[in-house]
Amino acid sequence: MITLAGVSKTYKNGVNALYDINLEIKQGEFVYIIGPTGSGKSTLIKLLDGEEVPTKGNVDVVGINVGKLKHSRVPLYRRNIGVVFQDFRLLEAKTVFENISYALEVINMKKDIIRHRVRQVMNLVGLDDKGSSFPNELSGGQQQRVAIARAIANKPKVLIADEPTGNLDPVKSDEIMTLLEKINREEGTTILMVTHDITLVNKHRKRTIVLENGHVAADLSEGGYIKHV
Ligand code: ADP
Ligand code: ADP
Repeated sequence: MITLAGVSKTYKNGVNALYDINLEIKQGEFVYIIGPTGSGKSTLIKLLDGEEVPTKGNVDVVGINVGKLKHSRVPLYRRNIGVVFQDFRLLEAKTVFENISYALEVINMKKDIIRHRVRQVMNLVGLDDKGSSFPNELSGGQQQRVAIARAIANKPKVLIADEPTGNLDPVKSDEIMTLLEKINREEGTTILMVTHDITLVNKHRKRTIVLENGHVAADLSEGGYIKHV
C-alpha cells in the first residue's frame, strides 16, 4: 500500500529532514508515527500526500510513484488519501452534513449517492443527529468526528491522522482512538497516525515507527511501552 525506498528529503536551505528511509506499510495496517519535534514526521506526511517531492528515492502509494506525479495529477491522486488534522479544519459556515457532503460534491459524486454515504459516515462516527448543527455548536471531540467522517467519506484507501487528539482531553482522545480502530476494522482503511500521545500509544498497541533526526530509530511491530518522545 505504501512503500518508501531509499527516501531522502533535503529542503532548499540544506536541512536534511529525512535520510534514507525504507518502509513498507501493508493494506489494512494501523501504524503510529512518533518522534520529537523536528524528527521529520511532517515531512514524511508531505511526501505521502504529494505536497513535497523526495530529493532521493521513491515514495509509492497505492501503486503510484507520488514524487514523480505531475502537478496537475496531484489532486486526483489525493482522492486516495483522507487527512485529519489536530485543529479539525471544518468549514464554519456549513453544517455537519454540508461539511461532509461538500467533500463528495467536489469530486462530482451523484447527489443521491452523496446523501446515502453522508448518512452512513455520520452513523459510523456516532453523529446521526447532528447533521444540521454547525461546527461551533459541537464539542472538540464531536468536531473531530465530523472531520474524520469527511476524510473517509469517499472511501480513501489511506487515512493520515496528524495529531488527531492533540486538542482533546484524555477521555475524548481515547474515544477518537476507538473510532479510528473501528474505521480501520470496518472500512479496511490503512491508517497512519502521527502522535505525541504516549498514553494512547501504550494503551492501544500497534506498529510504531519512531523517527529521530530524519531516520527510523525504531520500528516496533506490536507497539510497546514507550516512555517519552
Ligand atoms: P516534525 O514534523 O517531526 O516536527 P518536520 O518534518 O517538520 O519534523 O521537520 C524536519 C526538519 O526539516 C526540521 O529540521 C525542520 O526545521 C526542517 N523543515 C521542515 N520543513 C521545512 C521547510 N519547508 N524548509 C526548510 N526546512 C524545513
Ligand atoms: P430523506 O428525506 O431522504 O429521508 P432528508 O433529506 O430528510 O432525507 O435527510 C435525513 C437526515 O439527513 C436529516 O435528519 C439530516 O440530519 C440529514 N440531512 C440531509 N440533508 C441535509 C442538509 N442539507 N443539511 C443538514 N442535514 C441534512
